[in-house]
Amino acid sequence: MKNIAVIGAGTMGNGIAHTFAQFNYNVQLIDVSQVALDKGIATISKNLDRMVAKEKISEADKIKTLANITTFTSIKDGVKYASLVIEAATENEILKKKIFKELDEVCPEDTVLATNTSSISITQIAAVTNRPDKVIGMHFMNPVPIMKLVEIIRGYNTSDEVMKFTTDLTNKINKVSVAVNDYPGFVANRILMPMINESIETLYNGVAGVAEIDTVMKLGMAHPMGPLQLADFIGLDVCLSILNVMHDGFKNPKYAPCPLLVNMVMAGKLGVKSGEGFYNYSAGKKSDTVANMFR
Ligand code: NAD
Repeated sequence: MKNIAVIGAGTMGNGIAHTFAQFNYNVQLIDVSQVALDKGIATISKNLDRMVAKEKISEADKIKTLANITTFTSIKDGVKYASLVIEAATENEILKKKIFKELDEVCPEDTVLATNTSSISITQIAAVTNRPDKVIGMHFMNPVPIMKLVEIIRGYNTSDEVMKFTTDLTNKINKVSVAVNDYPGFVANRILMPMINESIETLYNGVAGVAEIDTVMKLGMAHPMGPLQLADFIGLDVCLSILNVMHDGFKNPKYAPCPLLVNMVMAGKLGVKSGEGFYNYSAGKKSDTVANMFR
């Protein structure tokens, strides 16, 4: 098993490609956008440089890792020889179903199809294919080359063989897998997102300010980053969309997104990627708090 195709060269896709290439797999990195592919390769190269500087890998390892990655703008060309495809395209249900329909048509019969979705049902994605037993969730964490965890999500029809194949592969790239069933938010986001939402609600209710809430969670609970800063890092739009999926999926008001979160997303304050969320990032790094709960 040597060929792994990765769909999407964005934040997660380039991290996944980097990791498998570093462990000597041939990676076919596929994106609709040539610009995204170029940017993805540049990011991988920069991240490898950092690893060389820290003496975690050698210059020769870097060259070999980059040589293991080939780029494609067409799914059909990129997946021809893939034993496994990991889809890490934009989080959009219609788009992912379209991609999986195409993958099912163009991939070899025994290719396993994985998705890195944060919130969309694996069972629903699998249902558009003729191989639901070979569809699985592989939920990597950001930044992929550094974070150890991969949530392995078993769709309703995923076979035991495919669970084992995916788990073994995760071990081979030196990561730790945790098997979970296919319910909204899986485990990571089911627990993380209500905590982030509650911290926004605490701010919204005027109990404390942004820095105070983050300090309580950092120093009081030993979290490496406060929940509001973490929300900025993940993207407030992403947090909102995951909460909406859990709210719709469970029909439980405890997952209803805080109105302040909804307002901030509508106002274009998405966190690090837009330059402003609970903190300001316009100077290229985190500065003072900016969220105004009275707006
Ligand atoms: P991103 O926006 O950084 O990258 C998405 C890439 O997909 C873009 O380069 C885009 O051009 C490409 N793309 C869109 N349509 C495509 C198509 N039809 N074929 C090929 N490529 C296509 O997104 P991301 O943050 O890397 O997220 C990717 C997936 O990973 C999402 O499902 C997301 O929920 C999940 N995820 C994200 C994080 C995170 O922290 N960002 C963490 C875990 C899981």
